[in-house]
Amino acid sequence: MTPETKRLIRWDKKYVWHPFTQMKEWGDEKAGQPAVVIEKGERNRLVDTEGRRYLDGVSSLWCNVHGHRHARIDRAVKKQLGLIAHSTFLGLSNVPAVELARKLIGLAPKNLSKVFYSDSGSAAVEVAVKMAFQYWQLKGRRRKKTFLNLRNAYHGDTLGSASLGGIDLFHEIFKPLLFKTYQVKAPYYYRDEFRGSESRYAQVCAARVEQVLKKHHSRICAIVAEPLMQGAAGMLKQPRGYLAQVSRLAKKYGVLLIVDEVATGFGRTGKMFACEHEEVRPDFLCLAKGITGGYLPLSATLTTEQVYSAFLGKYEEFKAFFHGHTYSANPLACAAALANLEIFEKEKTLQKLRPKIKLLGEALKKINGLEHVGDVRQVGFMVGIELVRDRATKEPYPMQEKRGYRVTLLARKYGVMIRPLGNVIVLMPPLSITPAELRKLCRVIGDCIQQVTDK
Ligand SMILES: *Cc1c(COP(=O)(O)O)cnc(C)c1O
Repeated sequence: MTPETKRLIRWDKKYVWHPFTQMKEWGDEKAGQPAVVIEKGERNRLVDTEGRRYLDGVSSLWCNVHGHRHARIDRAVKKQLGLIAHSTFLGLSNVPAVELARKLIGLAPKNLSKVFYSDSGSAAVEVAVKMAFQYWQLKGRRRKKTFLNLRNAYHGDTLGSASLGGIDLFHEIFKPLLFKTYQVKAPYYYRDEFRGSESRYAQVCAARVEQVLKKHHSRICAIVAEPLMQGAAGMLKQPRGYLAQVSRLAKKYGVLLIVDEVATGFGRTGKMFACEHEEVRPDFLCLAKGITGGYLPLSATLTTEQVYSAFLGKYEEFKAFFHGHTYSANPLACAAALANLEIFEKEKTLQKLRPKIKLLGEALKKINGLEHVGDVRQVGFMVGIELVRDRATKEPYPMQEKRGYRVTLLARKYGVMIRPLGNVIVLMPPLSITPAELRKLCRVIGDCIQQVTDK
């Protein structure tokens, strides 16, 4: 290790607290947590201070889209730097934010007409929740005060977005601080008692939603859901037709629909937005992660004219939406987001993605044959590989064995950087990954799973 890297790690351990990280073990080789400090990026790779290269197998936590240091985004941010880095969006506008809003509305489901900016996925969901709540209050439906969400959901870590989350490991301790919601069992075919066809399963799961709606719709502002795939829960895939049925139920019972596309948006599922797969028109669309191509923090909550117009009135009626962040609609981030969208057009990203999704599916078949792989779930470029101790009984590995984590550590030795969700190995490569890199990613992960689950 170079003296420079040694010093950085020493300072990191002395001054830094990392998210979702047991700091007692971080940087401790014996505890299996070697420290890596990233210095630069080259297309689909990360380079650390030791000059080691890694395929960015989870797109720097699901947000990188076209690779690192893409010339077009680099140029756009630099150009914006020559104009202004930041000005407030509270009662004031800026050039790239306006242009981006117009672009987003052009791409989103046709019923959406307004863009509200914030700076993280958690905030995008929180904004949708507050808007939905205030909407019904303004409409005189005062009893509508709660929400319906799915078990295993993940919508962020702020208290509002965590209230809608259903992953106990993350949020259990904060329960006393969270607001109560109605929770419905989410689709998870592999571990559900139901056995039958995909379309039947979609009906069964939707019926679980309807059960709650039928009884409590007069108290419910909105249903919140991740479309097609629940990401942080371990890539839990929904049966085809489920999202469309949930959307129909929302309309039937007079409840708004909040679709959280923070992870699925911007090409991840093979279409620009996951909603398109089932022609769903949500009342709120939450976007973040890939919105800037993985460059800068930015998020957006898109909504309808119907919701927006309920907030209109004279100043002294105080119907305005009282929410905003210092860096809402940051011009540098919006410039990066505009360039991100231009690349989709110029490079035909989605068209080029189609054969790569197929290739990935093929490569996963081999992994699916491994002895300790229980289930492989893929939607476009989102993949979860669930490791189990016993394939026949689906008995999970005990969490203490850290099998998932060990696979990802071993993968680093072969030049692949990924991050697991418990016993689920996650693959979320940048859309720009080359076929050769994609094959390498799957080969390395297959080998590493084999080695780690052999004993
Ligand atoms: C990552 C994620 C969030 C939270 O986004 P942050 O930018 O990390 O706050 C919310 N919803 C989903 C579906 C996500 O994957």
